[in-house]
Amino acid sequence: MTPGLGHKLKEALLAIVGPEGFSEALIDMVSYSGDASEHSHRPQAAVWPRNAQEVAAILSLANQERLPVVPRGAGTGLAGAVVPVRGGLVMDLARMNRIREISLADRLVVVEPGVVFAQLQTALAPSGFSFPPDPASGKVATLGGNVATNAGGLQGAKYGVTRDYVLGLEVALADGSLMRTGSRCMKSVSGYDLTGLMVGSEGTLGVVTEITLKVVPKPPLSATASASFGDLRQAGDAIRQIMSSRFTPSVLEILDAECIKVLNRHAGQSLPEAAAMVLAEADGYTEQETDLQIRQITQAFAENDAQNIALAQSPEEAQQFWAARKAIGGTLFSLNNTMLAEDVTVPLSKVTDMLVGIGETARRNGVLIATLGHLGDGNLHPNLIIDGRDPDQLARAHRAAAELFALAVELGGTLTGEHGIGLAKASFMPLEHDETAMRMMRQIKRTFDPHDILNPGKMGL
Ligand SMILES: Cc1cc2nc3c(=O)[nH]c(=O)nc-3n(C[C@H](O)[C@H](O)[C@H](O)COP(=O)(O)OP(=O)(O)OC[C@H]3O[C@@H](n4cnc5c(N)ncnc54)[C@H](O)[C@@H]3O)c2cc1C
Repeated sequence: MTPGLGHKLKEALLAIVGPEGFSEALIDMVSYSGDASEHSHRPQAAVWPRNAQEVAAILSLANQERLPVVPRGAGTGLAGAVVPVRGGLVMDLARMNRIREISLADRLVVVEPGVVFAQLQTALAPSGFSFPPDPASGKVATLGGNVATNAGGLQGAKYGVTRDYVLGLEVALADGSLMRTGSRCMKSVSGYDLTGLMVGSEGTLGVVTEITLKVVPKPPLSATASASFGDLRQAGDAIRQIMSSRFTPSVLEILDAECIKVLNRHAGQSLPEAAAMVLAEADGYTEQETDLQIRQITQAFAENDAQNIALAQSPEEAQQFWAARKAIGGTLFSLNNTMLAEDVTVPLSKVTDMLVGIGETARRNGVLIATLGHLGDGNLHPNLIIDGRDPDQLARAHRAAAELFALAVELGGTLTGEHGIGLAKASFMPLEHDETAMRMMRQIKRTFDPHDILNPGKMGL
């Protein structure tokens, strides 16, 4: 059992956040023990600060007391990054959920970290602007979490990831000081890029208390096409042709044979059984623009022996095409009690090799791996679905995941394109980063957080 906090420490925290901002109740500790990964560990207490000053005061106290603090958004992470492995405090930022400013003249918004991704999109919708990196968890995940994990989404190839939109931050540091990084400008080369350092740092360097995000106009029109392929290599060749053309699809997704089977059996779909189904979207400002792009894409499908090539004839039909893609995440999660949702990413020219390698890894280890992916940016999601109560299945799944990491790195790729390192991939960091890079990362961590109180035990640091 995780011990509670001492009386004096508890009183000091209560003096900062008040009784409504503090809990040691078992029910809260259980709720805060995990995220959407298989990892879990209970904290000793939870705090709900209301502003940056409270966050800073809590950190200052925790630093003196050497008490671990884990900042938490919505807990949708898939890498165990928010699991309080060394106990201590969970700092839930849900109460800091105001959109402070929307300035279309400056093309930016200023938000608190607890604002949910979808809340911002709803607020921006009337203006026709958006913050494009759209994680599938966007109805729940917070912008603080998105920044801390450098979240990405379906539109990564054309519109980039969270990092490309963060102009500036306010961050509470381990010693309780508040730091402003970046600016409200579209360009700045003033000093080291502290904003960039914070993005994707998984709560290990500071707690983000305010975010200035660039927003962009959303093209009003889109065209959607789909096709199936009898062979993964043909799908890979079609993708290579599309991505080496002069057009960038706004979305380019793949569902492999396992995903197709699962959707047909468990989600009421009737997709043609094939090695892969590819869905593409092209966006733009006129029909001529979207039409030109989507025809390039369908031509690439046809030239690489695709079957069932279809072009959505209306927005409603496009929605039907996307229904399968939208259903797959939840359907896969419901198949068994444990899913290792990986997100290896490889250079575009190596996508086919990775897809083929995933199939071989599944067969070699006797594990069901259903793969979907964002083909336009090389980010693949092999989902290892098992009964996690069976130690043999668990061991085989972990072995398969390790093999996938090794293959991705061998192909010039990375362990993670969007979910982050957290706990799940911490021990694999040296596979991707050389000794010097690891040493520099450890030194950066020590500079920001000399007593290792901020989300300790993560990222292999
Ligand atoms: C069904 C499902 C689909 C998903 N789809 C995607 C996807 O398409 N793309 C994608 O990128 N991810 C996806 N994810 C993963 C996850 O949703 C993202 O990583 C998301 O950005 C996490 O946001 P959160 O608010 O839930 O953060 P949490 O899980 O609460 O925290 C994640 C990390 O951020 C840190 N953190 C949170 N807030 C702060 C803060 N204010 N300051 C400093 N550190 C902080 C935490 O300490 C932790 O290290 C998916 C997850 C699920 C369950």
